[in-house]
Amino acid sequence: MLVVMQAHATPEQIKAVCEKIELMGYRAHAMPGSERTAVGITGNKGAVEPGTLDELPGVQELIRVSKPYKLVSRDIKEENTVIRFPGTDAAFGGKGLAIIAGPCGIETREQAFAAAERVAQSGAQFFRGGAYKPRTSPYSFQGMGEHGLQIMAEIRDEFGMKIVTEAIDNESLELVERYADVIQIGARNMQNFSLLKKAGRMRKPVMLKRGMSATLEEFLMAAEYILSEGNYQVILCERGIRTFSHHSRCTLDLSVVPVARDLSHLPIFVDPSHATGHRERVPAMARAAVAAGADGVMFEVHPSPDQALCDGRQALLPQQGAELIGQLRAIAAIVARKVEAVR
Ligand code: PEP
Ligand code: MN
Repeated sequence: MLVVMQAHATPEQIKAVCEKIELMGYRAHAMPGSERTAVGITGNKGAVEPGTLDELPGVQELIRVSKPYKLVSRDIKEENTVIRFPGTDAAFGGKGLAIIAGPCGIETREQAFAAAERVAQSGAQFFRGGAYKPRTSPYSFQGMGEHGLQIMAEIRDEFGMKIVTEAIDNESLELVERYADVIQIGARNMQNFSLLKKAGRMRKPVMLKRGMSATLEEFLMAAEYILSEGNYQVILCERGIRTFSHHSRCTLDLSVVPVARDLSHLPIFVDPSHATGHRERVPAMARAAVAAGADGVMFEVHPSPDQALCDGRQALLPQQGAELIGQLRAIAAIVARKVEAVR
């Protein structure tokens, strides 16, 4: 159920509607738009019993939402969600095209700084790097843990880029929230519902990657878990899915970009590195993603990929990363977007 407020509804009227919803035992989510505010209702087991909600001052109408996802849906919020970082021009989902680049994992201070320096010079607003790595083998490099997060925080101070890093469980989530600007939840955890709910109680933006075999509906429902707990700053990230094709690590499902945009107000990102698994194929897919209307791309860059402790095969050399960002700037202009400076 969605309570659509009148265009001129006052903040007090919106507050009164939210309070009434909470009194009824549900949860209220006020989603302001440029024209009007809509208040989403969650926490109901079956259909919401609307009672006298429609009689409250400032209420225009009540709408039943038939889709299983509600808060992520365009039905509740027509305008795109824009996630801003105060004091900078970096944003997700606005006119700007956001670029996240960096190594798969933070391996040493030297490796991370070498990557960050080049990535910053080439114009990326966000630096990525895992301090907690979800690896297929327990014997593979698992990440530097909190020390890796401290290195990322130093990189933010030195280069001004915002920091994106993955949390893999409830424990790492608390640390990641403390150090990072954007919390990443990886493909393997897309349906880790307790982690999603906990991320929903945090106040930092969450980049949610699509599970390797998740349908778009499952992907949106995973995002819904985060929003339902009150964190509305979620970025969707397509990173390739498992198919019968073996020429590529995964199959990049670019068609999800326009469809997600139709169905949801959340920003949609593309990660061509984990999708292709080969550095030679990353630039083509990154260019295609921007042309397809993605709000940004995330790709891996390593100063010496041959020595990388994870995902070296798909990491771009810093020079290749810089060239790619140059190409993305040109494509961005054609689709009426711009790669903004971080500050
Ligand atoms: C990553 O971004 O480092 C990562 C592990 O990605 P994914 O969860 O998409 O595999
Ligand atoms: Mn990786």
